[in-house]
Amino acid sequence: MAAYFPFFAQLSIPTIMTVVQFTFNPFQENTYLLVEGKKAWIVDPGCYTTQEQSELVDYIEENDLAVEAVVNTHCHLDHVLGNAFCCKLFSVPLWAPARDQYLLDNLERSAAVWGIGNVEESPAIDLDLNGETELVLGAAKFEILQVPGHTPGHVVLSNKADSTAIVGDVLFKGSIGRTDLPGGNHETLIKSIKEVLFELKDDTLVYSGHGPETTIGEERKSNPWLV
Ligand SMILES: [Zn+2]
Repeated sequence: MAAYFPFFAQLSIPTIMTVVQFTFNPFQENTYLLVEGKKAWIVDPGCYTTQEQSELVDYIEENDLAVEAVVNTHCHLDHVLGNAFCCKLFSVPLWAPARDQYLLDNLERSAAVWGIGNVEESPAIDLDLNGETELVLGAAKFEILQVPGHTPGHVVLSNKADSTAIVGDVLFKGSIGRTDLPGGNHETLIKSIKEVLFELKDDTLVYSGHGPETTIGEERKSNPWLV
């Protein structure tokens, strides 16, 4: 066996990461579990009801996964509703953009505006994603792209080896993120998409914060906000 090892070691390794999608809370927000081996990150935990919490936890337990962190692409209410629950249950740190701290500070108030009660305050940010360029989940490498506009601190997790990007609310299939909420800026968002996100290859699979997945190529070609 040892004789074969150098040969295999030279091959470029194909897809090594799994993306598991859940859709939670009244905003139909996509929560993603990024899995490499038995290691996992919970990205944008939107789980709000006990049923939603169980759905996420059951999957993690049934697959015997070790959660390493809770990651927020940005800190809008619908993407952070499960921050406290997940960080506490799995005793893991919160990795989030500190430029969105004002959103975490106003969580209860903005929840009340939407008629959502019993919102648990988010834990403090342990790692500021606005200060990071790369993070590693087992053998999977993620570039942390800074893409402000939908919120000032919004980041995208880009895994080039797997041609996969977790884009939060920056880009959707046929649409882009709203910029009418406090801290949003339309010109900044368009600039972020065209100058940062569109640097990715056309075959990059795009997992958005709402709705179905798409690809960079499809949006480059046909997204009415960007052509
Ligand atoms: Zn958002």
